[in-house]
Amino acid sequence: MTPELDTALASRHSKIYPSHYIDGRFGFECMDGWADLLDAAAGLVQQHVDAIGADQVFARQVKEKFGSLRIYTWNADERSVAIFDLIEGLSASICEECGHPGTIKEHNGWLRCRCPAHHMSEVVHIGRPLPTEQSASTLMELLNVALKFFDYNVLPCLRWFTQPAIAFGSTTPASLIHSDEGRTRTLRLLQQLEFGVLP
Ligand SMILES: [Zn+2]
Repeated sequence: MTPELDTALASRHSKIYPSHYIDGRFGFECMDGWADLLDAAAGLVQQHVDAIGADQVFARQVKEKFGSLRIYTWNADERSVAIFDLIEGLSASICEECGHPGTIKEHNGWLRCRCPAHHMSEVVHIGRPLPTEQSASTLMELLNVALKFFDYNVLPCLRWFTQPAIAFGSTTPASLIHSDEGRTRTLRLLQQLEFGVLP
């Protein structure tokens, strides 16, 4: 991750991604495209920890492995594990470089999740800003509503995100969550499903 984004993300979530990230000893061992997922997950986990007074959850390591995110944690209970598992799964559909829709493919012997624009390129480190609070809170709400809708069963939740949604034609919800508009549309669809309203 680019140092500016790494520092901003670790500073916003200093309890989940503690200080050793900030002084550069480890850092996020992935690229900027997954920062929004890491930001939203940390926000949700911290809300959960604060709400129930649980032991502080923190990430020991955040890295890319076999083309998707891996997050190794301390103190994560079932709810926190589900949140991190969901973003690990979603990262397999999101370009690690830029955050746009992507797929995992082999490149020079490595599995990497990339959009068409970045699939054949070498690592470019685009350098993205941290999402605004508003953008981050929409993604948090979307992930939260999705997990609740599926009773915190991550596999069906991921399946919903990665299969075309009837209301969106041939588009998957996962391919929409890189933009604020897509996040809002996807959230609205989930809320309609939750209340049994046909979109
Ligand atoms: Zn890309």
